[in-house]
Amino acid sequence: MRRHRNVKIVATLGPASNDYEMIRALHEAGADVFRLNMSHGDHAEIKVRHEIIRQVEKDLNSPISILADLQGPKLRVGVFKNGEEELVEGAAFRLDLDDAEGDVNRVKLPHKEIFDALEPGAHLLVNDGKIKLRVKDCGGDFADCEVVVGGTISNRKGVNVPDVTLPLAALSEKDRKDLEFVCDLGVDWLALSFVQRAADVEEARALAKGRAALLSKIEKPNAVKSFDAILEASDGIMVARGDLGVELPVQNVPPIQKQLVRKCRAAAKPVIVATQMLESMIDSPMPTRAEVSDVATAIYEGADAIMLSAESAAGSYPIEAVTTMNNVAGEVETDPTYTEIIEASRRSDGITVADGIVSAAREIAETTDIKAICCFSQSGTTALLVSRERPRVPIVALTSHIRTARRLCLSWGTNCVVTGEVSRFKDAVIAAVRAAIAQGLATEQDMVVVTAGVPFNTPGSTNILRVAPCEERLIYASETE
Ligand code: PGA
Ligand code: MN
Repeated sequence: MRRHRNVKIVATLGPASNDYEMIRALHEAGADVFRLNMSHGDHAEIKVRHEIIRQVEKDLNSPISILADLQGPKLRVGVFKNGEEELVEGAAFRLDLDDAEGDVNRVKLPHKEIFDALEPGAHLLVNDGKIKLRVKDCGGDFADCEVVVGGTISNRKGVNVPDVTLPLAALSEKDRKDLEFVCDLGVDWLALSFVQRAADVEEARALAKGRAALLSKIEKPNAVKSFDAILEASDGIMVARGDLGVELPVQNVPPIQKQLVRKCRAAAKPVIVATQMLESMIDSPMPTRAEVSDVATAIYEGADAIMLSAESAAGSYPIEAVTTMNNVAGEVETDPTYTEIIEASRRSDGITVADGIVSAAREIAETTDIKAICCFSQSGTTALLVSRERPRVPIVALTSHIRTARRLCLSWGTNCVVTGEVSRFKDAVIAAVRAAIAQGLATEQDMVVVTAGVPFNTPGSTNILRVAPCEERLIYASETE
């Protein structure tokens, strides 16, 4: 589906968006990628959503990316006798391994390994950081805490322990089952929650066995510290601002967001800016000005994608939320300041032949009257390089692999098109101009740039750049092979 913007929109699905009509309407309104949150919904529900997305993809003949977000080692307290309790500042509160239901004095924290890692002085944050506890005394099966910031604590609320490196496995038993299940379904991306080190990503990669690309969610201070190695090990990144803003002071999040977005672009790997982008739209058809500004900032920074969480999964205005993002993107991307910022942050230290070709393709396209850059990319690598260039003209990413097309949907600017197998360059040029015309990007009177690698079907082999007329008669007359 042809979009009039380059940044991509990721929409999380949930109870507010689980039938065919809604999912199709979200895609038509602008959602390029759908996120299945494995923390909610059982396998039967996930399977139904997956099938619906694939049906929409087929009906609209438009590749759609599916991202399954694994819960990861998320810590949660147990349950309370009364469902919830009010913790007041200065009070004592105990966490332990006792199965008994909790009360105002204590609750179970069913993670033995946390008690082994805790030390007096460490902080525990409950319910997205709304409640803050400080450990005064602890042992192998308890932690006696003081309530530093009080609030309501209720059943199974999340717990963050930012001060301590947790000896937790990157993937829980549930994550492993979920991973196997969604890889079998055929999702395109796996998001890994609470990644702490590159080894966590490698562990997941060994299990995924090439069935899905891996996206690391940066939401722990440790992940920020080891970011370079994590980026190297991953295929993409999510700046997961929700937990990141709990584990670190909130004011640290914007500079980290900027740095991570920049590093991802340098590495030609897609980056999603996520969480609370249009939070007020859960209950309101209108966003706040600050939210609109936040969405705009992520786009000005050069993010590949922006994400909706509860706004599209559980809110009252999923379509309006996608439309808002789409409209903000349209405005930002036509602002000359945006082009200036994006071009000033381009790195030109290409080192491979493919880097040189895509950079030349962009320059030719921008300095002459060329309507699109059409790149053949079987593995997707060359398309990622073209996307990193952030050209002013549209990108048509052509591949004969539907899986490559779907993965690329997350990257900035890609109009993904699945072609038949091509073995001769002339056929590639014909496929490219047909796609550019079909997408409404060019007419028979126009010209496009085509890049490809010959011999075909060798990943990363891009070595040809051709300026081609869109009229097929002229292509047949001019191409020799
Ligand atoms: P979550 O991750 O929605 O799975 O918690 C995103 C975030 O923490 O920002
Ligand atoms: Mn999170």
